[in-house]
Amino acid sequence: MKIVRTIAELPANAGTIGLVPTMGAFHAGHLALLSAAREENDVVVASLFVNPAQFGADEDLDRYPRDEERDARLAEESGVDVLFAPSADELYPDGFATWVDVGELGHRLEGEFRPDHFRGVATVCLKLFNIVRPDRAYFGQKDAQQAAVVKQLVRDLNLDLELRVIPTVRDEDGLALSSRNAYLSPEERETALVLPRALATKDLARAQELLAGLDLDYVEEANFNGQRVLAAAVRVGNTRLIDNVILEGDLK
Ligand code: AMP
Repeated sequence: MKIVRTIAELPANAGTIGLVPTMGAFHAGHLALLSAAREENDVVVASLFVNPAQFGADEDLDRYPRDEERDARLAEESGVDVLFAPSADELYPDGFATWVDVGELGHRLEGEFRPDHFRGVATVCLKLFNIVRPDRAYFGQKDAQQAAVVKQLVRDLNLDLELRVIPTVRDEDGLALSSRNAYLSPEERETALVLPRALATKDLARAQELLAGLDLDYVEEANFNGQRVLAAAVRVGNTRLIDNVILEGDLK
């Protein structure tokens, strides 16, 4: 596996390319995406970039978990060919000024609580797609709205790639794996389990009842391109967690 830090150093690849965009601190959810990409492509590129543009000023950019050495080892074990780990300056050099605005979808649900989040996500994804030129790109159902935003980006801007959405990987206790779970104390983790339990009811009213005691940003039914999900975001201590369950359909 090659670790590459600059766009200029990315190798020219032969065959089909699968791209897995990540912010690192790998867990089994990331590994499921890497393994799907490994099965379906000749070349697998994983990007490792904690994208400042998708964090709000009062969010956790500075304390976001980072462990590149461990990520590189896991990526290599997962059959990744190229780990693209650029600096923020490499992707946002002085004078950077162009942003992708994904419209209404970017301002609902997560977008209501994280106003510029999806602008940052869509912009970095378009940059990564242009830099890596993948045939397929892999995203997790865990971030259903993000997958829907990227789907819209691909459709609206006529990008020539296939989007693949991989099911949410959960811990044995039901909590969806997330790099941010590392912030939770054992007591907070117990509290956080209400989130998957509430969503597992697949019933909005019941979920609202169960989540009533928590610091809830939203629990809502959403329709993302024909896929209906029950989605929620809660704050447990200083940690913000999101999760969703599919009620019906695939992301088209
Ligand atoms: P992140 O590093 O958190 O930006 O996540 C990188 C990719 O992994 C995104 O497409 C996420 O949706 C996906 N992902 C994160 N957690 C999970 C999970 N528990 N199951 C499946 N995919 C996930």
